[in-house]
Amino acid sequence: MAATTLISGAGIAGPALAWWLRHFGFRATVVERAAALRRGGHAIDIRGRALDVTAAMGLADAVHDLRTHMRGMSALDADGKEIFRTEERSASGGRFDSGDVEVFRDDLCRLLLDATRDGVDYIWNDSITGVTQDGTGCAVTFEHAPQRRFDLVVGADGLRSHLRNLVFGDEAPFLHPLGVGLAFFTVPNYLGLADWQYTHRSGENGYIIFPNRDNTELRVGIGFAALPGDDARLDAAGQKALVAERCGQMRGEVPRLLAAMRDATDFYYGVLAQVRMSPWSSGRVTLLGDAGYCPSPFSGQGTSLALVGAYVLARELSRTPADHATAFARYEAKMQPYVTLNQNLVDLTRDGPIPDEQFDAAKNGILLEELPPRR
Ligand SMILES: Cc1cc2nc3c(=O)[nH]c(=O)nc-3n(C[C@H](O)[C@H](O)[C@H](O)COP(=O)(O)OP(=O)(O)OC[C@H]3O[C@@H](n4cnc5c(N)ncnc54)[C@H](O)[C@@H]3O)c2cc1C
Repeated sequence: MAATTLISGAGIAGPALAWWLRHFGFRATVVERAAALRRGGHAIDIRGRALDVTAAMGLADAVHDLRTHMRGMSALDADGKEIFRTEERSASGGRFDSGDVEVFRDDLCRLLLDATRDGVDYIWNDSITGVTQDGTGCAVTFEHAPQRRFDLVVGADGLRSHLRNLVFGDEAPFLHPLGVGLAFFTVPNYLGLADWQYTHRSGENGYIIFPNRDNTELRVGIGFAALPGDDARLDAAGQKALVAERCGQMRGEVPRLLAAMRDATDFYYGVLAQVRMSPWSSGRVTLLGDAGYCPSPFSGQGTSLALVGAYVLARELSRTPADHATAFARYEAKMQPYVTLNQNLVDLTRDGPIPDEQFDAAKNGILLEELPPRR
């Protein structure tokens, strides 16, 4: 019986899987490299079938309470002058009448952590250094904690998954860079924006700015054409210098934003990429969320895939608790068409917002028969 599972990563996918494993009677331990909940990140979206999953977790009302309250958005030209405005949608969240819920990433992380405080063990400030599998389980070594055995190990440690590197080897064949570097950070709301977004896009360069925390702060996302080497594993200071250099020619608000970025404590940077691989499992190890099938923020579906994947994985394990191999195979077979639909959305974003019809099909593109329909 697969009784104990170690999950690497306490982002969205990891705590969501821990919730469902506990629900189905398994024991889950989560190891997270950060010392505590990571602050920052932009708004993320819970859409389509992922809303069914959060509803089944009893979190529908809590998620609804956390939602952002954008009234609309302005598209700006390179000098920061408004060229278009709408009150029907925001750049980050899409149509306001879609039924989707947009929340800030750290708010959703906190909600999932709070929902799993009881009955789930969290190990902070640590990372797996090795996994040795044998016929009965996995011997896992950590940077700090002593060696332990688990029945199963799940990599939910994001796009650049460390566990994937350890178990599946070099990431190069799986990682498909999209040629865009993207930085997120928070600065004081010196623009006085009130529940309103600003966006700008010219070619690969662009930004999105929107207020948060009762309009006291601005969450900024700024993107640029990434050159080879721009995804090197620099420290935060090196990444800030890179962003300042690559965006140094941008006008409008950008020079002030870059100056304010220097003091940002929640800075996050990466070169956008998708993860496309198969199989997602090797023996007693499997991958979940961005680690196994990142669709990239361009799709707007990373969080929803992570939430649905967590449910499907735990559900399949519960169906054959003594046979993780077939459970992992069913998890992948069930998820893969849904993942592909959502990863393919990115090709549609090159010319503007994703057409509603294709987006609706992708976000609802998996049947979760066992879940009660949401209200
Ligand atoms: C700080 C941050 C900000 C983000 N902001 C945005 C955003 O604004 N817009 C957007 O669309 N997507 C954003 N993302 C990605 C988005 O959260 C994911 O696409 C989606 O929610 C899927 O979640 P995930 O849990 O699979 O991966 P993630 O949310 O990336 O979570 C992975 C977790 O694994 C942890 N981790 C990494 N390496 C190790 C290790 N060696 N050992 C243990 N733990 C490890 C990370 O610290 C993180 O907590 C962000 C991710 C992070 C980490």
